[in-house]
Amino acid sequence: MMTAYGDRPMLIGGDLTFGVGDEWITSLNPSTEKPIGRVPAGTAQDVARATAAAAAAQPAWAALTIWERGARLKALAAAIRARAQEVRAMEAADSGNTIANLGNDLHKASNHFEYFAGLMSEVKGETMSSLSSGLHMTLRVPYGVVGRIVPFNHPFMFATANLAAPLAAGNTVVLKSPETSPLSATVVAELCRDVLPPGVVNIVSGYGLPVGDAIARHPQIRRIGFTGSVATGLAIQRAAAESTVKHVSLELGGKNPLIIFPDADPEAAADAAVAGMNFAWAGQSCGSTSRVLVHDSLADAVEKRLAERLAAIRVGDASDDASQMGPLNSALHRDRVHRLVAVGKGEARLVLGGGVPAGRSFERGYWLEPTLFADVATGMRIAREEVFGPVMTIQRWSDEAEMLRIANDTPYGLTAAVFTRDIDQAFRAVRAIAAGVIAVNGSRMHFVGAPFGGTRNSGLGGEECLEELLSYTEVRAVHITL
Ligand code: NAD
Repeated sequence: MMTAYGDRPMLIGGDLTFGVGDEWITSLNPSTEKPIGRVPAGTAQDVARATAAAAAAQPAWAALTIWERGARLKALAAAIRARAQEVRAMEAADSGNTIANLGNDLHKASNHFEYFAGLMSEVKGETMSSLSSGLHMTLRVPYGVVGRIVPFNHPFMFATANLAAPLAAGNTVVLKSPETSPLSATVVAELCRDVLPPGVVNIVSGYGLPVGDAIARHPQIRRIGFTGSVATGLAIQRAAAESTVKHVSLELGGKNPLIIFPDADPEAAADAAVAGMNFAWAGQSCGSTSRVLVHDSLADAVEKRLAERLAAIRVGDASDDASQMGPLNSALHRDRVHRLVAVGKGEARLVLGGGVPAGRSFERGYWLEPTLFADVATGMRIAREEVFGPVMTIQRWSDEAEMLRIANDTPYGLTAAVFTRDIDQAFRAVRAIAAGVIAVNGSRMHFVGAPFGGTRNSGLGGEECLEELLSYTEVRAVHITL
């Protein structure tokens, strides 16, 4: 069948290739369910070839001066910018993320390469003067081949940004693209083929089993960086542990509280909650501010404002410039989200949404209206499980200690936000809440350079910062007799 993007290859050892298997994954546009292209369903053999190519390329890549490696990373950033318009259109059709907001992802993609290219001279060790008999120092060395496994929610941004730190530290990479929305990673494959030496980046498309699992188990891959769900993160830790000793970092899900104290401006806090939900990605964002915990005295005002703001969101085809929210990413994910919404309807009070938007344009595609639940209570599934969709909940509180207990009453610990004018109150919450990233009087305040990562079941290891760069190196102690 002729499709808009046709058959798109993987990148192995500098060659654009369809691999050794004969199975394909057809990508459907989630706004229309139309097939728009295909990628090979990669095999464990493809992963083995990609890893061998990465291992062969690594010594020469690590031997380049930081200026030479940095120049290649900056060239990748420029190559991304040159194809930005084309990638935005492809990504909107492939992922359902709205085209109007994809500029953010494209900017982040190129910015990461420039940021880590500029940070490379910070990969350095220390000297120790405790013994006078010689010279004692630490060196930082790359792991060798790094495996990176990418989720569906920002496919292009993750398939690019996740390369930057491992490459800057002197590693080569085998990256797996997501099986839904796999097309934009094939552009990354073309850009890497054009800009980098063969084998430095290898991109394998396919399903978690066998491709992701083969990466997690490959004995030559000693460092894995994973972004995705908790269940898969645990599976990767198990598979890694069964193969060889590996360093695994995990960026996983969240059920992020946004806490509103009685002295806050309820409308400003509600607006920040809506911004933090990332409706442009239909709420499919790990850091979504989906769980509003509001003091009793402001609960009615916050509910009214949230309902007004959610009702005004223009839902439509992600490729339409006017759309503020598109569909969910796949049929499988839509079904999961709708099941959890049905559970929520049985547990809590549905204020708004909860169904497929009305109209002919929503007869096909994976839709859910912006959805708001109130009267949510501790212990409900809708209060504890990550929905990963355009769904917000409101839970009231009256006692601060009880509220802080509720805030931590999920297995997660990714982001949190606190709204108050009282700095002491804000800091009590900052200290008490289990989260890797906490905003006070705002949302979406993260920027590259500040660590992003979770605690508890939300993950291990901060990314997008110096700590991420260093996490792609090992420390070696060197003792020299003088
Ligand atoms: P997922 O775990 O289903 O899939 C992620 C990737 O893992 C895909 O490429 C998939 O093919 C692969 N995979 C699946 N099974 C595997 C296995 N057994 N071994 C190895 N790889 C396997 O996640 P998803 O549905 O694509 O993404 C949504 C999740 O990602 C949400 O929970 C979200 O919160 C999380 N996420 C977290 C962050 C963060 O920075 N913390 C960012 C984005 C998304």
